Amino acid sequence: MVRDSPKQQGNRKKLVAHLREKGIVDEQVLKAIGKVPRHLFLNSAFDKYAYEDRPFSIGAGQTISQPHTVAVQSELLQIKRGLKVLEIGTGSGYQAAVLHEMGAKVFSVERIKELYDRTGKLLPKLGYNVKTFYGDGNLGVPVWAPYDRIIITAGAPIIPEGLLDQLNPGGVMVIPVSNGDEEIMKTITKMESGELVMKEHGSFRFVPMLEDKDQ
Ligand code: SAH
Repeated sequence: MVRDSPKQQGNRKKLVAHLREKGIVDEQVLKAIGKVPRHLFLNSAFDKYAYEDRPFSIGAGQTISQPHTVAVQSELLQIKRGLKVLEIGTGSGYQAAVLHEMGAKVFSVERIKELYDRTGKLLPKLGYNVKTFYGDGNLGVPVWAPYDRIIITAGAPIIPEGLLDQLNPGGVMVIPVSNGDEEIMKTITKMESGELVMKEHGSFRFVPMLEDKDQ
């Protein structure tokens, strides 16, 4: 049975109000965050805190992103029902669940076996139909390419070329690019002509994107 108490539902509503105050305007994003039970993506020790606007440890030295960061990235993706989205960094599966809730077809790759195994079981259990992969996200997932949207949820030292090749014309990539101290959120839009248009959207903090699988 899914543990979702009135208290947790109330905390979720407060989180949505907080995100609205922080400037999130996409109603689809706010609705999805209002629905996805974030506490179930965390160890139950975090039950009380799960709807605070903070990242939390998910084991293996990784974190679930802060809700505001999830909201900003989801908003920048400009999701429409049925779009194919590739996520790099499945982690807890929370961001993937939010995108699924918004009607996207989500493909997500994770380089840490322990997280891939855990999240691959959790997502279907909670009713989220996300295709998960174990591998190095720098290489994307060529067998299912091209994608309409690509989201990177770890701080990238560079923009991986191979990933841009897997983006459809008209598509958008949302990527936090590290400058050594912090990550600058960037969107890269691939025009129908193939031309790439880059924009910056402020600074954030992410765990680093690493190369290769963990084993
Ligand atoms: N989207 C996740 C955020 C997890 S933090 C969530 O909602 O919980 C970033 C994740 O990216 C970590 O799980 C980390 O292991 C993963 N990661 C880092 N480098 C990667 C790479 N090259 N390929 C795939 N995943 C990677």
